[in-house]
Amino acid sequence: MKEFIVKIKPLTPIWTGDADRKNSTLRETGIIGSLRWWYEALIRGLDGNACDPTNTKCDGQNHCDACELFGCTGWARKFRLETSFNYTIPEVWIGTREERNKRYLKRKVDGLMSDGSIELTFIPLKDINKDEWVLLNSTLKVIENYGAIGAHISQGNGVIKIIENNLPYQNEKCKECKGEQFDKSKNSLASLDKFFFYKFKLEFNEDISKLINNKSFWTHAQDDNQFKDSWHNWKKLWENYNFLPIAFHIRDSIRHLENGWETRHDIFGELGKGSKVFVSHGYKINEKNVEFRIWGYGIDSSLLSSIKNNLESNLKQKLFSDGKDLLKNCILKEEKTGESLINQLAEELK
Ligand SMILES: [Zn+2]
Repeated sequence: MKEFIVKIKPLTPIWTGDADRKNSTLRETGIIGSLRWWYEALIRGLDGNACDPTNTKCDGQNHCDACELFGCTGWARKFRLETSFNYTIPEVWIGTREERNKRYLKRKVDGLMSDGSIELTFIPLKDINKDEWVLLNSTLKVIENYGAIGAHISQGNGVIKIIENNLPYQNEKCKECKGEQFDKSKNSLASLDKFFFYKFKLEFNEDISKLINNKSFWTHAQDDNQFKDSWHNWKKLWENYNFLPIAFHIRDSIRHLENGWETRHDIFGELGKGSKVFVSHGYKINEKNVEFRIWGYGIDSSLLSSIKNNLESNLKQKLFSDGKDLLKNCILKEEKTGESLINQLAEELK
């Protein structure tokens, strides 16, 4: 069958669980898993039917719309994905601010980048119908404009720009996108209408390369004696790959805005695992400015306004070493509720 190619450019490294670049199956599984997650969220947002893959009754005979395209037990996925990445990024670690069980942990800035674009090749194995292509195209647009792809998207990875997309049925209507009413009250699954999306711009006082040369960014607690800095790698990430590894700083800036321990755990997960809040690293706008994203779902409005109101002052404290403040501004560039996004998509698709 004919192959279809989507060319993407990573703005922050894509994490696929395949740091050594040897296991391409793992790499593709990571991308497919992420595509499926967003596709499910989109379908649920449009009141369609997408099961919880971790607890599903779907099988070869009866299955939801997400399983129809992405497969389940007894029903194979309708396409194969092939992809290739060029580079593993140089190693940078960020320590935890607080001790856990009397020691500091460190978090790796990880993932794969490319010096040019990365091709995602979709190879249909069964007939993919028009509605499925339309929804897949929409899914890719949502990822590009508001979210991220791959794993570890709560820790900075996977912001992309789509360079070229030759999947069929772009900007077309969906015939039966509105499925039978899906009762969302029953579960806490990701549904696009329950999301929020923020894009912020950070303006620094000086060129970011100078801030890196001056070792201005915070990397570890002062009494963390085990920690070794790697400023030359910070420099490479900025100069070769155009991103600033600050997702952990951003998470540390918003994590404590939720006071309740249990809610905090539910929302932010443990070391980012199972998180409902996602943040990106800062990707380059120009020598002094980066943009980053915070998005997520199932977060109440008081925490959302707290994030907006306190982010700048918290970042001034968490971004830099030695109590420096080298941040000129943190500007909310774009704000979108999942509800308005889903209304906009429904308008476009139906
Ligand atoms: Zn299903």
